[in-house]
Amino acid sequence: MRRKLAAGNWKMNGSRAALAELDLIARESAACDLDTLICPPSLYLSEALTRAEGTSLHIGAQDCHFETSGAHTGDISAAMIADLGASHVIIGHSERRADHGEDSEDVREKARAALSSGLTAIICLGESEDQRLACNTLEIIGGQLAISVPDASTAANTVIAYEPVWAIGTGRTATTAEIDEVHDFIRARLIDRFGEEGAQMRLLYGGSVKPANAAEIFATDNVDGALVGGASLKAEDFVPIIKALDAS
Ligand code: PEP
Repeated sequence: MRRKLAAGNWKMNGSRAALAELDLIARESAACDLDTLICPPSLYLSEALTRAEGTSLHIGAQDCHFETSGAHTGDISAAMIADLGASHVIIGHSERRADHGEDSEDVREKARAALSSGLTAIICLGESEDQRLACNTLEIIGGQLAISVPDASTAANTVIAYEPVWAIGTGRTATTAEIDEVHDFIRARLIDRFGEEGAQMRLLYGGSVKPANAAEIFATDNVDGALVGGASLKAEDFVPIIKALDAS
């Protein structure tokens, strides 16, 4: 049985004052039987961890470098994230792939670093709109999956997030048929490669998940949760999504 996960990616949003949302999210989802996670900007990780102490809310980072330490100005390592006490790190988000030219090899090296540091890696995959229109979605996802996911991945240390690039922050959500097709495909590839570990690895959908569409998305086979951007910033939006997942 795969444990559900509601993960929030705050991207470059929020402030110290906005961290008060974490208290509300933790309190209002305390009775839910699933994992909840917020990934704030790295500057706020420490304070977020302090606020989440004693609650079931997990705190994670949005990226890490593949080296443990060294001359990489502005970067943070997986070891540092783990040292703070955070549990997860998002890797290969399409905004990192686009803004920082990260390819799937980079993603795999970062994921390796995350796993070596004891973090759970949330590895993001997704096709662009042009790739979908050209009917290349499964080929793109299959290629990203094969390269981005390290051999050391297990169900305990890796989560896969399918995030169609054209659905991120656009208000356009993939249809349940589209999600179903891609998640089934990812599941089959994971089982081929990892056997039972692949069957148990969690698959999240991400791309304009909102309170209004969450229940329908969570009713889809092989959807074990969501990676949520905009709607994770406020408890009033994120908590109904968590509750919809809990009820699914
Ligand atoms: C994301 O940042 O991963 C994301 C899915 O964003 P949004 O929910 O805003 O589309």
